[in-house]
Amino acid sequence: MRAVQQNKILRIILVAFAVLIVALSVSLTVVSVKNNRLSEAAGEYESLSGELDSAQAARSEEASSYQAQLDEQSKAFQSEKDALEQTISDLNRQISLKRSTTTTQPATQKPAVQTSTADLSGKTIYLTFDDGPSPRTPEILKILDQYGVKATFFVINGGKYNQYMKDIVNAGHTIALHSYSHSYSTVYASDENYFADLQKISDVVYEQTGVRTKLIRFPGGSSNTVSRKYAPGIMTRLTKEVSSRGYVYFDWNLSSGDASGGKVSAQTIINNCRKVPRSDSVIVLMHDASAKKTTVEALPAVIEYYKAAGCKFAALSESSPTAHQRVLN
Ligand SMILES: [Zn+2]
Repeated sequence: MRAVQQNKILRIILVAFAVLIVALSVSLTVVSVKNNRLSEAAGEYESLSGELDSAQAARSEEASSYQAQLDEQSKAFQSEKDALEQTISDLNRQISLKRSTTTTQPATQKPAVQTSTADLSGKTIYLTFDDGPSPRTPEILKILDQYGVKATFFVINGGKYNQYMKDIVNAGHTIALHSYSHSYSTVYASDENYFADLQKISDVVYEQTGVRTKLIRFPGGSSNTVSRKYAPGIMTRLTKEVSSRGYVYFDWNLSSGDASGGKVSAQTIINNCRKVPRSDSVIVLMHDASAKKTTVEALPAVIEYYKAAGCKFAALSESSPTAHQRVLN
């Protein structure tokens, strides 16, 4: 009787154990399934956030490239605006000067020689004359010789005046290339046209002087926008291509203003030449052309101003500063 009861109790205990084991294993399974799901979800989250990151990176890259484009455009507009403002102020200066000379001064008055108080010592002045040779060339050479100043002539085909090219070289000045035709519509019609014209003036200079120069100045300068009318983007290409063909191109950082339309007075040219930029090297743009009589008139006073201010003078060479302007086409 007692043995039977003990057996029963044992069986109950065994059943209870079994139930417990089953319950434990069920709950373990549930936990591991939950864990699996959690780690799956975490993986999904990870990959989603990765996608989000890369989308964000792409978008910020896009944004910064748009920003760069905008910056580029606004810079271009700014420099065009600067150029326009420069022209306006040049014109305004001319108008006010014309008014004062016509009302208060006799027309024959010679330009006043400026006595300088400015200290520009340490600066080097590179006088440059574009568009020669011309009937003015001997006059310019004579003045330069009187002051012992060396300058640079960016020449074109001057026809019968081409004989002055060797006088330029013999006097120790630098002869450099500007253009054969100086016709924007021809020169800037295509890259091929530009280089054909450049070769022609190079050959003329070589025939006249024996000098094969690599120094050039673009008609209108590298920042000209006239060329846009004939060949959009041509200046961007030419400024690179000339360098790869071994040429060195020069612009200027001070304009005498003698190229402005109409007759510019000698006094205006002198005043413009006094507006020296901060740079140690000052490349002054002037013109050697039949109509530019006032440039010749202004030249002695311009040279005297720079001398009194302590400047040195030099002719350009391949290693000189180039005063490159911003290319706008
Ligand atoms: Zn020119």
